[in-house]
Amino acid sequence: MKTVESAAELRAARESMPNPFGLVPTMGFLHEGHLSLVRRARQECASVGVSIFVNPAQFGPSEDLSTYPTNLAEDLELLSSEGADVVWTPTAEEMYGPGYQTWVEVKDLTRYLEGEAREGHFRGVTTVVAKLFNSFRPDRAYFGQKDAQQTAVIRRMTDDLNFPIEIVVCPTVREADGLAMSSRNANLAADERQVATVLYRALSAAKELFNSGEREAERLKAEMEAVLADEPVAQAEYASVADPETLEELSGQVEHALLSLAVVIGKTRLIDNVTVGD
Ligand code: AMP
Repeated sequence: MKTVESAAELRAARESMPNPFGLVPTMGFLHEGHLSLVRRARQECASVGVSIFVNPAQFGPSEDLSTYPTNLAEDLELLSSEGADVVWTPTAEEMYGPGYQTWVEVKDLTRYLEGEAREGHFRGVTTVVAKLFNSFRPDRAYFGQKDAQQTAVIRRMTDDLNFPIEIVVCPTVREADGLAMSSRNANLAADERQVATVLYRALSAAKELFNSGEREAERLKAEMEAVLADEPVAQAEYASVADPETLEELSGQVEHALLSLAVVIGKTRLIDNVTVGD
């Protein structure tokens, strides 16, 4: 496995790697969720590249950039044992050089949910992913359903900008108690870690209600809110029942929907989602 820091080194390393090439973009502090993407890429591609970059452009000024967990040495060990071929670990200066002023923005899809709660977040995501696509020139890129809106936004960008790249979305990997794996879980204190199961409990309760015949968007949302209200330590930012394609909030009868949540527990902000009716 080759580890490179500069875009020039990456380009040189990529030159000799056979296609199809699979890319897994990450912010590091890798867990089984990330590794499931690497394994899928390994199965489907002749070469696999991973990026590890905590992208400052996708964090707001009051967000957790400075406390985002990192452990590069362990990440590289994990990736080496999963059979990655090349890992790019650019610095922020490498990614956004002096005079940097080019941004990629997806409009409508970023108006809702995470885009509404985290202003400028998706502009940072799409810009860095476009740069990763140009640098790695992958045939396929692997993303997690855990970040459902991100996958929709990246698909849109990929189509709109004519990137010849297949976007592959992999299922959310969870802990035994249902908590979606996330690098941010490491920042939860032991008591907060217990509370954090409330996201999946709320989503599961609404999904169960849907599966038992309830189709009213407002009822599904109220079910999630009721479970969240039982954990006063968990501050809900939003509980949403949205159209899985447009991400617009739904009302009335729904046939399929993306149920999603953003919850703050102490200083840690967590998101999760499930789909119903697919
Ligand atoms: P991150 O390092 O959080 O930016 O995540 C990098 C990639 O891994 C993104 O495509 C995420 O959606 C995906 N990912 C993160 N957590 C999970 C999980 N629990 N299950 C599946 N994919 C995940």
